[in-house]
Amino acid sequence: TFQVGRFYLRDKDIPSLHRSFHRFSHKGDYGKVLIIGGAKGKTGAINLSAYAALRTGSGLVHLAPHLEDPYLIQPIVSELMLFQDDPKQNLNDFDAIAIGPGWGMDVEIAYYQSILARFQKPIVIDADGLNLLAANPDLIHKIPKNSILTPHLKEFERLVGKSKDHLERMEKAKNFAIANGLILVLKGAHTLVTLPDGTQIFNSSGNQYMATAGSGDVLTGMIASFLGQGYIPEHAALCGVYHHGLAGELASKAKWRGMIASDIIEAIPRTFLELG
Ligand code: AMP
Ligand code: MG
Repeated sequence: TFQVGRFYLRDKDIPSLHRSFHRFSHKGDYGKVLIIGGAKGKTGAINLSAYAALRTGSGLVHLAPHLEDPYLIQPIVSELMLFQDDPKQNLNDFDAIAIGPGWGMDVEIAYYQSILARFQKPIVIDADGLNLLAANPDLIHKIPKNSILTPHLKEFERLVGKSKDHLERMEKAKNFAIANGLILVLKGAHTLVTLPDGTQIFNSSGNQYMATAGSGDVLTGMIASFLGQGYIPEHAALCGVYHHGLAGELASKAKWRGMIASDIIEAIPRTFLELG
């Protein structure tokens, strides 16, 4: 079903995946996104994801910090809002949810499970959201189908174990995606996206200056933003990965190795101008 150049994601594959919005659209059309995460000493990650979602075009973005302290997080930009979640809330007003940035490991598993049960659409899971899955594998079966998991190598190994080489790692990614009906975004210099049917696509955008704190949190927010804008999960993952890498390339032209994750976020709008 994919128009993208097989197995390798390039600039020309992206514009045909973009949705366009008409002159009479309102902010609801651009999606309402919730980022769940953040714990004491780790309040930056959730903010980076949320800010990235705004810069990718989301209409409304909320932050839901760790349950025990609803005022833990101060939004880094005024356009962000706080959401106080609890297991009784209906989450289905949100168009997309991302779970995990800076969440910490002392999250109640019952609460995590309640999020998976209350939200009936595909979600984005990253960072401690993934580490908690590795520690509680039964939860993996409760994730909505076609959800997008975005591990870096270490997080991936926690989920499926170590591999002896790249080929074995690709095989494990494929088996994991097929067995669980999920989209797996294995992050690295050439991020590998594995779709639920086993199709595997390497990303071509990005550079070494993206190896900086918070870079992955930016990707999480971007993928959640595309999902919230109504992209099908496969397209949200592919657009997120490609635009993220391109934003890193553009930002590093100005900042070189002094580039930080917020610079990647500031460069996101230019990636749309660049690709058309
Ligand atoms: P994380 O480790 O969760 O912060 O994610 C790091 C992000 O930066 C991922 O999206 C990686 O694909 C990206 N990244 C890290 N190193 C490189 C590299 N050498 N080239 C391109 N992208 C990179
Ligand atoms: Mg990360």
